[in-house]
Amino acid sequence: MKAIQITKTGGPEAIHAVELDRPAPAAGQVLVEVKSIGVNFIDIYYREGVYAAPLPLTLGQEAAGIVVAVGGNVERFRVGDRVAWCTSLGAYAEFAVVPETALVAVPAKVTFEQAAAGLLQGMTAQYLCTATYPLKAGDTALVHAGAGGVGLLLTQMAVEAGAHVISTVSTPEKAKLAREAGAHDVILYSQEDFEPAVKKITGGRGVDVVYDSVGRDTFERSLKCLRHRGMVVLFGASSGSVPPFDLIQLSLGGSLFLTRPSLAHYVESSEELEARSADVFHRIERGTLKLRIDHSFPLAEAAKAQEALKSRATTGKLLLVP
Ligand code: NDP
Repeated sequence: MKAIQITKTGGPEAIHAVELDRPAPAAGQVLVEVKSIGVNFIDIYYREGVYAAPLPLTLGQEAAGIVVAVGGNVERFRVGDRVAWCTSLGAYAEFAVVPETALVAVPAKVTFEQAAAGLLQGMTAQYLCTATYPLKAGDTALVHAGAGGVGLLLTQMAVEAGAHVISTVSTPEKAKLAREAGAHDVILYSQEDFEPAVKKITGGRGVDVVYDSVGRDTFERSLKCLRHRGMVVLFGASSGSVPPFDLIQLSLGGSLFLTRPSLAHYVESSEELEARSADVFHRIERGTLKLRIDHSFPLAEAAKAQEALKSRATTGKLLLVP
């Protein structure tokens, strides 16, 4: 089978297509014939060595496909089941061995492309707006990078929850996408300082929550956009890491809350993983969550796909096709 591996960490040149024997599932594992693969920032972090894993490493951790074999003690899945996952390495391949505990069932009405495009970013948007800061009708949320993959999904879910959504984006094209996703106000933060713009929109009060995945370029001003006792949810660092921070700023800003969440800690139990994935898939089935697939690359072009993800031009999801 074909797989995309690194034998040492590094830039895109570290990525190689290799021919491997098809793996056999051990106890508690399932062998999946991969049909569609999601490309994520975390794949780049593994390639670069920001996150450590034994080498050689088959990259990728989000995909959907069909069960072709099960190991001993596997109870929830059988040959022929349609499945997806987003927390187990080895997804950039024609076949992958996945722990049963990482797999979720894909409903018949959800395509493999939708499952691979929607699971990681969808569950991220879902936990951010239902668990980290549970949005309710009447809340006002500032969503940075509102036309990015997570941004578009988070905007749709926030609007469905009845929140007023203010998005920041870098280009007029992205502003159009953010509005189509339901954003009520869109700020071109490449041309205008978003802090006074948010104050103006909220009549000086500030927002209840800021969902900030941009990091270094936005974080300090995100805090200043909050109402007293509001929350900054810093969930990414697309522009770079936030430098060390003096906690007294939280008090001075109005008894603010700050959290740095990670999807892994919101799908720790099988029950939570199943509930979040089912919620995302139901929204896709109902048509209330529209996925935007930006481009599908052949598996052999994984390096190109990762470079496209890093470039700011991507709007929506990038997939690999085995
Ligand atoms: P996307 O590439 O789809 O979106 C990132 C967006 O960030 C871009 O579209 C861009 O929008 C904006 N951006 C701002 N500054 C930069 C910069 N210097 N370089 C590149 N982009 C920039 O990514 P995702 O939606 O998949 O992920 C968004 C972030 O969320 C990532 O940082 C990712 O690591 C993180 N993440 C965190 C998770 C968690 O649980 N904590 C889970 C999933 C993702 P614009 O041009 O409009 O500014």
